[in-house]
Amino acid sequence: MATRTIDIAIIGAGIAGLWAFNRLKRMGYDVLLLEREGIGAGQTLASQGIIHSGLKYAFAGKINELAHSISAMPDLWRTALKGDGAVDLSAASGAASSQYLLIPPGFMGGLIGLVSKKALGGNVTELAPEDWPDSIKQSGFNGSVIYMDEPVLDIAAIIRALAEPYKNCIRKIDSSDPFDYLRAHNINAKNVIFTAAQSNQEIAAVHGHDEGLKTQARPLLMGMMKNAPYPLYAHLVGPSEKPVATITTHKTQSGDLVWYLGGGVAERAKDDDPRKVYEACRKALKKYLPAVDLSAVQWAALPIDRIEGASGAKGWMPDTPTIHAAENTLYCWPTKLTFAPLLSDMILEHLQARGLSPSNHTSDFSDIPPVDYAPAPWDKTSWTSDN
Ligand SMILES: Cc1cc2nc3c(=O)[nH]c(=O)nc-3n(C[C@H](O)[C@H](O)[C@H](O)COP(=O)(O)OP(=O)(O)OC[C@H]3O[C@@H](n4cnc5c(N)ncnc54)[C@H](O)[C@@H]3O)c2cc1C
Repeated sequence: MATRTIDIAIIGAGIAGLWAFNRLKRMGYDVLLLEREGIGAGQTLASQGIIHSGLKYAFAGKINELAHSISAMPDLWRTALKGDGAVDLSAASGAASSQYLLIPPGFMGGLIGLVSKKALGGNVTELAPEDWPDSIKQSGFNGSVIYMDEPVLDIAAIIRALAEPYKNCIRKIDSSDPFDYLRAHNINAKNVIFTAAQSNQEIAAVHGHDEGLKTQARPLLMGMMKNAPYPLYAHLVGPSEKPVATITTHKTQSGDLVWYLGGGVAERAKDDDPRKVYEACRKALKKYLPAVDLSAVQWAALPIDRIEGASGAKGWMPDTPTIHAAENTLYCWPTKLTFAPLLSDMILEHLQARGLSPSNHTSDFSDIPPVDYAPAPWDKTSWTSDN
């Protein structure tokens, strides 16, 4: 086969690769996206799908660059969900348009609300009990409820909205060396963009691209509970800077409701005993949501790393996405799913600085095998009632 010269090869079909891929395709670049497992596998389908506005970080006393850089993101996502953004997510609906901070008595909810409002321009409101959503009214919660104007996404639907229009250009890679793989398929990519999370650093090292490159992996052992009684999107606030638990709601393929629990309950070594996570989840739910019946629920745990550029601050992430450039290659970490739009802006700046304009050509990649969508964590886990 004759050599195909394409504008860009992207390696890794998580949110970072998919957002950049869709945007570059729309602009007329000739792009191939290679994925080794399934579309969305990795952190993206395992994420809680919260589009942070920075409130959580402001609340944790981190009214810093991070809280400010992230505060512009919800509007970018909402615009994309309406079909008016740099990518078109109108085929995907959000899972929830907002979420709540649940603050027990004695934790100065009003003050927290004020601090956050001042920091981030008033996208939070303390709700009077009669205005609480039914889910919280039914939960037996006692304390202050803060409304947060932060959407929560249906990640599987977002992934499809980004991948489906250009599915022919998303293909499976079965080699650990993408450069070799491209050569073996007679593909000459003018630029290569790595959005392959933990693989980025390994590949950069093999190719001598890792000078000055530093990344970090922060482990989690996430909790999952089914059947959840109703959809709930809430941070259970405790005395420490991070929430006791953050709850989002997801549906299994067979229609069961799952509460997915992160935050304090999940901050532990990945190889810790999953029963410790179930116990921490139970304890938090009993304390904050005492009316929820846990007698017949099932549990599962997901060990996973968050992979990002090194922040320098122990236990924290960087303030923005990270890009490490070497030759015609970019190694990229979004830091948060929320930052995918900002990462794609940064990628475009690099490409434009290199003088790469769209060829307005679409190469044929039908000689490379296609790749499927990955299953969500709650669809591939083993559930237990034994806890
Ligand atoms: C439990 C959890 C909850 C989270 N919740 C949130 C949240 O609510 N809001 C938020 O903003 N952020 C959240 N995050 C962070 C967010 O999920 C990540 O920052 C984001 O998904 C990273 O996207 P990515 O595309 O860089 O990586 P990934 O989603 O990990 O994608 C990398 C892809 O590259 C593929 N790949 C790896 N190696 C290779 C290779 N050699 N060749 C080809 N393909 C390869 C993988 O299979 C994978 O599909 C959460 C993270 C975790 C772990």
